Amino acid sequence: MKFLLTTKNLRKKITVLDILFDSHIDEKIKHIKSAGFDGVVINLNENEAPTETIEAVRQNGLVVQNLHLPYSRINDLWVNGTSGTEMIRGFMKQIEFAHAHKVPIVVLHITSGNIPPLLSEVGIERIKQIIAFCEDHGVLLALENLRRLDYLLEVYDRCESDFLSFCFDIGHANALTGNLYEFPWKNFSSKLCCFHLHDNDGSSDQHLIPFMGNIDWGKIIPYIFSLKKDIPITIETYLLDWSKSFYTNMFSKDNFEAEFFKKTYQAALAIESYLNE
Ligand SMILES: [Zn+2]
Repeated sequence: MKFLLTTKNLRKKITVLDILFDSHIDEKIKHIKSAGFDGVVINLNENEAPTETIEAVRQNGLVVQNLHLPYSRINDLWVNGTSGTEMIRGFMKQIEFAHAHKVPIVVLHITSGNIPPLLSEVGIERIKQIIAFCEDHGVLLALENLRRLDYLLEVYDRCESDFLSFCFDIGHANALTGNLYEFPWKNFSSKLCCFHLHDNDGSSDQHLIPFMGNIDWGKIIPYIFSLKKDIPITIETYLLDWSKSFYTNMFSKDNFEAEFFKKTYQAALAIESYLNE
């Protein structure tokens, strides 16, 4: 792994607050701050409105770049019935929460898996409701690429709004759609507002620290960052069950989380160095 550390530190570097390491929130914030990050993204569970977490993050001088809306039953979006209706109501509460706490972006998945329910009018109408709610509350809705880009394309085609945006997940394009270097940017670049940067070996969605999988970062980074000005470097790594053993010999057992965030921050600097050349 080659890290070029001759960076000018121009862009905000952001990490996921909870990489799924079992530690207290104050510990997480401490490690993220001392690694050098400027801010975090916060993943929300259903009905979660983490005021205290946001306050603690900000008290430590970190920004909250976005909130990731929950997605455990996101396919219900496309199906008539109370589950989808309730889910939308929950999203609206969380968008209201983002507005109240001045978080500018919420990220949303709109499908799960290879074969979600059929694309439906009820789904499009619900997305239109969410967009209208975002417009009223001044919060950007960033849809994220997973497996089914056709659903995203249909939504972008049918829903016109300055508040409808796009979060490009580099790892998903590498492993889930396999089109990272031929991504259909003509349909997405004008909507771009944030990145999810993480790595994998192309076989599955591993959320590894950048430079630990097979993504050609030197090739892709200058291109995707040229599509829109001033997008932060947001790293979306997780400590998934299988990756605990992947990292075992890389970080010490007693200081795992601190070392993990330090390595992740180095990767963010290396990514930035491709933008300064
Ligand atoms: Zn992502």
